[in-house]
Amino acid sequence: MERLLVGHLFPDYLNIYADRGNIAVLSARAAWRGYELDVRALGAGAEIHPREHDLFYVGGGQDREQALIAPALAALAPALHEAFEGGAAFLAVCGGYQLLGRFYRDQSGAEQPGVGLLPLHTVAGSRRMIGDVLLECELEPGVRRTLAGFENHAGRTILDEGAEPLGRVVSGFGNDGESGHEGCRVGRAIGTYLHGPLLPRNPWLADWLLAQAIAHRTGTVPKLAPLADELEQQAHAVSARRAETRGGRF
Ligand code: GLN
Repeated sequence: MERLLVGHLFPDYLNIYADRGNIAVLSARAAWRGYELDVRALGAGAEIHPREHDLFYVGGGQDREQALIAPALAALAPALHEAFEGGAAFLAVCGGYQLLGRFYRDQSGAEQPGVGLLPLHTVAGSRRMIGDVLLECELEPGVRRTLAGFENHAGRTILDEGAEPLGRVVSGFGNDGESGHEGCRVGRAIGTYLHGPLLPRNPWLADWLLAQAIAHRTGTVPKLAPLADELEQQAHAVSARRAETRGGRF
């Protein structure tokens, strides 16, 4: 079995809503295609060698947990930028998404430093944006797909001029409740507010990430064999319907 190395950044602090479950989905879908996912935790002072990791994952956390690890995560910025330039893939969720940007100004007004990999910054607002979300994404030109998930954040994320969002909000709040954009995508790096069972109910995104990680290792984006995703499609449909009826709006 070909091995893929995943760097899970600060898993003990950033794992709200069981964001760790995304890794379980990636591992299973990789194994079914003949790849073994070797997942290693990366914390403060971690040594990250160039071209070593194929994928980096950061989950979500509350302001308190974010504040505890933000400086240590930001200290890894040079190595993470080098890995990104070398073609490694990234998935960052909620608090992790905010910290892959330039900074997060939290409720107290304190500024948490970010990695600066994604072209954005985040400022906490007074109202939380909570609810089911449905997005329309076009990661490859001409191929439109939907992402369904759940958001819960006070941070308003502002993308830099010209930055590419992950998707267009069909239902829900998204980055800031008004731009109509959700998440951010730069090459093989994706940041999003969609939590918890993001990959379990959006298997196409799991496979997209897996393909990018494999491309980092082998040099070519593979065509992954399709899987029987009936349950996953049902989960997606339930979640999408919920977003349409209960998605947040100001
Ligand atoms: N602390 C961030 C916010 O509330 C992220 C929260 C989270 O990860 N759920 O905006």
